[in-house]
Amino acid sequence: VRITRIATALLAGNFEWLLVRVETDEGIHGIGEAHWGAGVEDAVHRLGDLIVGEEARDIDRLWRRMYLATSGVPWAGAVVAAANGIETALFDALGKWSGMPIYRLLGGRYRDRVRIYADCHAGRATVPPPASRSEADGWHETYAPDADYRPEAYAQRAIWAVERGFDAIKFDLDVPSRLERDPHNRRLSNAHLDELIAIVAAVRDAVGPAIDIAFDCHWHFDKSSAIRLARALEPFDLLWLEDPVPPENIDAMARVAEATATPICTGENLYLREPFHRLLAAGAADIIEPDFPRSGGFLEFRRIADLADGWYVPVAPHNVGSPVATIAAAHLGAAIPNFLAIEFHAIDVPWWQQLVRGDAATIVDGHLAVPDGPGLGIELDESVGRDHLKAGSSWFGA
Ligand SMILES: [Mg+2]
Repeated sequence: VRITRIATALLAGNFEWLLVRVETDEGIHGIGEAHWGAGVEDAVHRLGDLIVGEEARDIDRLWRRMYLATSGVPWAGAVVAAANGIETALFDALGKWSGMPIYRLLGGRYRDRVRIYADCHAGRATVPPPASRSEADGWHETYAPDADYRPEAYAQRAIWAVERGFDAIKFDLDVPSRLERDPHNRRLSNAHLDELIAIVAAVRDAVGPAIDIAFDCHWHFDKSSAIRLARALEPFDLLWLEDPVPPENIDAMARVAEATATPICTGENLYLREPFHRLLAAGAADIIEPDFPRSGGFLEFRRIADLADGWYVPVAPHNVGSPVATIAAAHLGAAIPNFLAIEFHAIDVPWWQQLVRGDAATIVDGHLAVPDGPGLGIELDESVGRDHLKAGSSWFGA
């Protein structure tokens, strides 16, 4: 089975969703998704040129070929995301060729549906809408117009998500605050700390003890502020506190994790296995959150998950992707023992589910059934995809 062509389609979701299509001389094609970012689409085409004509089923060898051919630049960022999109598409094609779902190719499944947690926002999302969307066209249509970051707004939104079937939810805790004296020095004032505690208390009070709640700090605080915050939140039994300090200094993150009983989760901006190896060995994470479309691919993610399992650390894949990336992560979630939950960040994107045909991307009771069909087990709905192409992009070159 030879690779004949690699093409892309860039969709304007709440993030950019870069879909990758690998075609073969047997008429089988595969679909993947690369994490968004500057230069990623160009990197997909450059890497694709390296492997056209190659045997499509030698996935690990092709991955290494892409790595060796481009490792003159650091193998991180756009290049890894691009290789990830191609690797996913190759697995989808291999699954179709062999008639097996990807979770089967990864060693079989531990579970036939995977838990999904909802990323929620009170007030405005900290991630602004893409240039193609605006609040005027309903971007924040599900928010009350006067919503703000008061604890009651969080509580209201938490109940909204739980009523939609989710029993695990996450909020941003690094939202704008009048009580933040200086947004650059990372210092948490006493009054600001009290405000954050009130937000968490309101969410816990609203949903009760049976719902898992997590909070993301997006690398916002200094080390001692992060420790104070994490300790103060211990009575609320969080699922996790995410990225309380900047991610580059793993030892600083480890000091925070050691100082609190609140589980610390990190890892969304790490590429490939090596930084996870260091993160885990330093004790800097109680839960890791590799982002599938920038982890390196199915095989590399599996290696990361196995490393984490050796430290008795669960894996909760970070995810801001389309159904393609989400369902790819679901196959991994089925196939690794230490899976916890996958993020769902498109609760406000009504066409998210419709990008794939049928109900393959329909989340029921906070879970996604892992497709049983060959490969990823999904088929894209071309008309929905074309309706949301980013300006200047095409549907896989056609
Ligand atoms: Mg995060």
